[in-house]
Order: sequence, then C-alpha cells, then structure tokens
Amino acid sequence: MSQEETRIAIVTGASRGIGAEIAKTIAGAGRHVVLMARNEDKLAQVKSEIESAGGAASTASVDVSDHAGFAEAIEQVGKTHGRLDILVNNAGITRDNLLLRMTDEEFDDVISTNLKSVFVACRAALRPMMRGKWGRIVNVGSVSGLIGNAGQGNYAAAKAGLIGLTRSLAREMASKRITANVVAPGFIATDMTDVLPDQVKQGAVAITPLGRFGQPEEIAGAVGYLTSEQAGFVTGQVLAVDGGMTMC
Ligand code: NAP
Repeated sequence: MSQEETRIAIVTGASRGIGAEIAKTIAGAGRHVVLMARNEDKLAQVKSEIESAGGAASTASVDVSDHAGFAEAIEQVGKTHGRLDILVNNAGITRDNLLLRMTDEEFDDVISTNLKSVFVACRAALRPMMRGKWGRIVNVGSVSGLIGNAGQGNYAAAKAGLIGLTRSLAREMASKRITANVVAPGFIATDMTDVLPDQVKQGAVAITPLGRFGQPEEIAGAVGYLTSEQAGFVTGQVLAVDGGMTMC
C-alpha cells in the first residue's frame, strides 16, 4: 500500500492498559493509529512508543461520554486522513455495586461510557468506511457481558448490549465489506483490575482454567487479528480471551 493508502485506525482508551497495547499492535501492522482518551500526557507517551518502534500515530483528547464531541472527533479523523478503516471501541469504566445499592448515576455512567458511546462511534465511522468499501470494527466487551458478575449489573448490561449492537451492525454492513466483532476479555492485569481486593483477585484466578490473569498483549493479539486483512470472513463473532473461563 502507498502512503495515501495506509489504513487509518482509531483506538479508544489508548492511553493505558489494553487499549495502549491494541494501538501498538495495530501500528505494528503498518496502520496509522489515532489514539483517543482523556489523558493527553499518557496518549503522548503511547504515541512516542509507537513512533520509536517505527510506527505512525496521532492523538486526540476525547471523552467518549461526551457523545457529540466524540462523534465529531471521529468525523474529523475521516476528514483529516481522507479515510477511516478500523475502529476499536475499547474505552470503558466500572462503577461496581450490588444492584440493591446501585444508584441511577452509577448505572447511567456505565451505560453512557461503555455502550452508548460505542453506538455513536460506529454510526459516525460507517460513512467513511462505506466510502472506502472496507472496514473493521472491534468492540471490547467482557466475560461479564456473557455470564454476568455480582456487583456489575450496570457493566454486564452494557457489555451484553454491545454484543447485540455489534451483531446487528455485522448484519447491516456485511454487504459493504465492513466486519464487526466483539473481543470479550476475562480478568486482565491493568489499572481496572489492580484496584480489586486480593480476595476477589484470587477468586478470579480460581475460576480461570489457565489459572492466571491475562496480559493486555493477549487481548491485543486477538484484536490485531480481527482488524487484519485476513479476517475478512469473520463477522458478528464474540471471541472470549479469558483463559477458558466461559468455555462450554
Ligand atoms: P483501564 O486500564 O482502566 O483503562 C481504561 C481506558 O479507557 C483508559 O485508556 C482510559 O483513558 C479510557 N477511558 C475511560 N473512560 C473514558 C472516557 N470517558 N473517555 C475516553 N476514554 C476513557 O482499563 P482496561 O483494563 O485497559 O480496559 C479496557 C477495556 O477492556 C474496557 O472496555 C474494559 O471494560 C474491558 N475489559 C477489561 C478487563 C480487565 O480485566 N482489565 C476485563 C474485561 C473487559 P483516560 O483515563 O486517559 O481517559
């Protein structure tokens, strides 16, 4: 591919954790990656790591729960680069609480950041992808969206909702050569799980057949495949990368 034909990818939540590794993997495959998140310093650090490894990246400071601003940022990428090929919706938060005690705000915050933002992003990305007659969308779900998790009713609802959204999108866009899939991580060692009490961490390892936490790179490998040229016949799938936790 020539310089003008370099595929353009957006990765949200690319400032740290799983998103930073996804961005490095996609950049390593020769795509230009637009790194989105709120923390500009951390985005700049990831960009510099990508460039030091010979890759191409740019940054955009975006709050995905500001839906209008987020959609505008995505449209801007299409305008700046004249194309948009890959969208990875990875940004996410938790606001854990038992349902009996969960506030409306805790529920709404998680739905807004983890689910509605993804709808808004996909809608904004589809036009440039359709113009390019090619697209790869990967939404980062969770095993909680498959099997539920005590204390995560809001999060599990958002992540289960992502599956319905992604599969509908996969059906709507199949004729346009745009694929849409979900990667559902199990317990992965990042800031998100670092705050869990030791007892919860031990419980997580105990229900994981491979007997350990996963690493962000292991999620990035799955997303790298699903965004590759070779993955053109894979759509509407949920790939659990969870150490075997949800195997049946
Ligand atoms: P993390 O370490 O907490 O990182 C979260 C990322 O999302 C950060 O880059 C953060 O960037 C970004 N983010 C959060 N809210 C945002 C907002 N409003 N606007 C823009 N960016 C926002 O989490 P992680 O473990 O890497 O998780 C990444 C994804 O994997 C999430 O969707 C999560 O639900 C999913 N997941 C994680 C695990 C796990 O065990 N870690 C398991 C299953 C699923 P800023 O703070 O800079 O904005």
